[in-house]
Amino acid sequence: RHAKAVDAASQKDLRSPICAILGHVDTGKTKLLDNMRKTNVQEGEAGGITQQIGATYFPIDMIEKKCETMRAYTDPQFNVPGLLIIDTPGHESFTNLRTRGSSLCNIAILVVDMHHGLEQQTLESIRLLKDGKTPFVVALNKVDRIFGWEPVPNSNIRDALAKQSQSVQAQFNSRLEATKLLFAEQGFNSEVYYKNKNMSKVVSIVPTSAVTGEGVPDLLYLLLELTQTRMSKQLMYLSELEATILEVKVVEGLGTTIDVVLSNGILHEGDRIVLCGSNGPIATTVRALLTPQPARELRIKSAYIRHKEVKAALGVKISAPDLEHAIAGSRLLVVGPDDDEEDLKDDVMDDMSGLLDSVDKS
Ligand code: GDP
Repeated sequence: RHAKAVDAASQKDLRSPICAILGHVDTGKTKLLDNMRKTNVQEGEAGGITQQIGATYFPIDMIEKKCETMRAYTDPQFNVPGLLIIDTPGHESFTNLRTRGSSLCNIAILVVDMHHGLEQQTLESIRLLKDGKTPFVVALNKVDRIFGWEPVPNSNIRDALAKQSQSVQAQFNSRLEATKLLFAEQGFNSEVYYKNKNMSKVVSIVPTSAVTGEGVPDLLYLLLELTQTRMSKQLMYLSELEATILEVKVVEGLGTTIDVVLSNGILHEGDRIVLCGSNGPIATTVRALLTPQPARELRIKSAYIRHKEVKAALGVKISAPDLEHAIAGSRLLVVGPDDDEEDLKDDVMDDMSGLLDSVDKS
């Protein structure tokens, strides 16, 4: 199914890029996301950041604020509405999802603990990124653990490094060079991002601290820069839907639901959908489209807000009949007026067997 860009001429109406965060346990994935969610200003709300189903949405004005410290080096210009980061560590079915690679994510953050090198799950992630040809940046995390590091909270990394003693800078450089060697062993040239002259061939490294926040502005800036300038074609709104099942979950009062990442298109209540099940394809009708209630609204009884329609990119829970045997990792299609439901059933099942083949191979 080849979807056509609705408005290929317009660069303005781009959707939000989707990013996954991967890496070995304890490298700091959760902490890094927490730090990104924190706003520097003390506001009642976290600057419009919304926790979604299996994902966090960062609106562009909040990213702009976070990136203000980058102005010393560059003039960030953003032309996407925001950034959706899928917090994959919690998803069991992630092997399926990781194998999905570029169809689910436009870019990935590979988190590496600079003091531990490339650990087993990191190597696994590298292999999956390579197989899926998914572009990625490396967050070389825990810079603040370098002996003698003086925190420069939430600073861009170049200013923070310039303020360190010679001994700290020497330790940093030796860790950085060691990391580059480890990536070379995996078949990747890599370079600290601000010295990287060939972003399409050489992996960019962003030194970060998830605790004191150095380098986090650089990371957000780079993710936006790379996706909006190099992938604008992928970020065009499509008339056709692109969606992937993250998780299948039983929820009290709703029965079996599916948590879905909508990468492109618009999904409506009442849409007829087709997806893979363990007993064959499933065709059903969307009963409700749900996102979590903001934390401050928790006194309201329902944990979810109901939507008539949702627009990519976002994470959404779908309630519908007959989802008991749905398979995480499956693609989800909407039956349009000109579509034959049986054809779509074949499409999703073919797609899944292709996916499983590639899992077996690796
Ligand atoms: P995950 O398993 O990859 O999600 O790792 P976590 O985010 O849970 O972090 C694992 C541990 O490392 C926690 O104790 C964090 O507080 C700590 N940690 C994570 N990032 C940093 C960092 O940048 N600096 C320091 N000093 N500790 C960190």
